[in-house]
Amino acid sequence: MAKEQLTPAETKTMMLKVADAIIEAEPILTDADRALGDGDHGVGMERGMNAVKEKLEASEYESVGKVFMDFGMAMMSSMGGASGAVFGTLFRAGGRSIKDSSTFGPQELANLITSGTESVMDRGGAKPGDKTMVDALDPAGTAANSATGQSLVDAMTATAAAGVAGRDASEAMIATMGRAKTLGEKSIGHPDAGAVSVAIMLNTMKDFITS
Ligand code: ADP
Ligand code: MG
Repeated sequence: MAKEQLTPAETKTMMLKVADAIIEAEPILTDADRALGDGDHGVGMERGMNAVKEKLEASEYESVGKVFMDFGMAMMSSMGGASGAVFGTLFRAGGRSIKDSSTFGPQELANLITSGTESVMDRGGAKPGDKTMVDALDPAGTAANSATGQSLVDAMTATAAAGVAGRDASEAMIATMGRAKTLGEKSIGHPDAGAVSVAIMLNTMKDFITS
């Protein structure tokens, strides 16, 4: 049955599904990073998701924000590299913005993504158009903010669709951040690996909420 407001326990279950989906997508993420970077994104994310599962499975939550904060903390401490820092920041800062919430609804979704994305941009320096995960996150945040008056099912569906469109749009961009920037115009034609991860995460959240 479609879900409207998630409890902390449901939020934890959803994020464990996100971890499993990323682990399963390791070959896809590896290939995406091989095309533009050094090919370590899939294995790094897999390591991060195993740490996330260990942390979440061992914890009980009263705050939905704390689930995301622990998700980010586990990524940050287990992954290293650029993506450990940027994904860790995304979930830690996003989770902190909803740490006082005991349910996850459309407003929490919007706060999570917009606060998390702002922190990623502040700390990592990427802007929309630089061909990074921000290109999936920024449109997803805009969609989530416009959907706070809708049901969680509709808000999450619109948010995931915007994230996927952002991932697709990153294909045509020229990388100006991170490792891929040395490729210049040769980076055109491939999506950014981090944006591919973001799209998988959002789609998995959508599948959980709509099922
Ligand atoms: P590394 O770049 O250390 O090899 P990964 O391959 O795991 O790390 O992750 C690369 C992804 O991290 C990129 O595809 C991009 O989406 C994201 N990324 C890297 N640097 C930044 C940054 N400064 N801001 C936002 N995202 C970034
Ligand atoms: Mg890499």
